Amino acid sequence: MMQSRGRLFVISAPSGAGKSTLIDRSCRELPNIWHSISATTRPRREYEEDGVHYFFMERPRFDEMIARNEFLEWAHVFEECYGTPAEAVDARLAGGDDVIMDLDVQGALQVKRRRAEASLVFVMPPSLDELSTRLEQRATETGEDAELRLSRAEEEMAQSHQFDHVIINDDLDVAFQELKKIILNHRGEVDSP
Ligand code: ADP
Ligand code: 5GP
Repeated sequence: MMQSRGRLFVISAPSGAGKSTLIDRSCRELPNIWHSISATTRPRREYEEDGVHYFFMERPRFDEMIARNEFLEWAHVFEECYGTPAEAVDARLAGGDDVIMDLDVQGALQVKRRRAEASLVFVMPPSLDELSTRLEQRATETGEDAELRLSRAEEEMAQSHQFDHVIINDDLDVAFQELKKIILNHRGEVDSP
């Protein structure tokens, strides 16, 4: 019997809303789901590993990948470049795994244009105040970088109507159950408690 192709899920959210937390949990708790690893020119955070969290690279290498048409999508985000290498995503989908991608809104909409079957999920913070608190607690960006992320949040939230699903990440467990349901529904599986 032919193995069925995996499905594509794109998760977007203002920085600090909790998408990495939700994606990590999906990958830990759900079988056959793979988190796509993006390329980026932004500096590595202390806890991040090259090839695990991102492929960290200088701008010339990123530009070469653009020129070779290796990205499924790419965008300028917070003054750095981020892109999804297409080959690994397609290999996983062909092998039957679902692929979950963590992209900014521009990237999510590019994917929808190129892969109409992709499911776009937007994660909303309960409020801008709470978003600011979470960014402060995460403490990976300070000063101007944190300000830049917050100032982009409202713009991104205004585009959430272009997504197939919107999840409010107030209580993490509730938000995760909603995401799990979306993923399992697309797989045609029944969600057991
Ligand atoms: P993103 O990937 O969207 O930038 P993160 O997943 O890194 O956001 O989450 C930002 C911070 O908020 C992290 O410190 C995370 O532990 C915390 N966080 C995520 N979800 C919740 C939640 N529902 N309630 C409280 N804190 C949360
Ligand atoms: P961070 O620097 O916090 O890891 O990510 C910053 C933003 O870049 C987030 O909104 C994240 O979703 C987005 N992002 C991460 N990887 C990609 C990618 O490959 N393409 C696009 N378009 N956005 C990405």
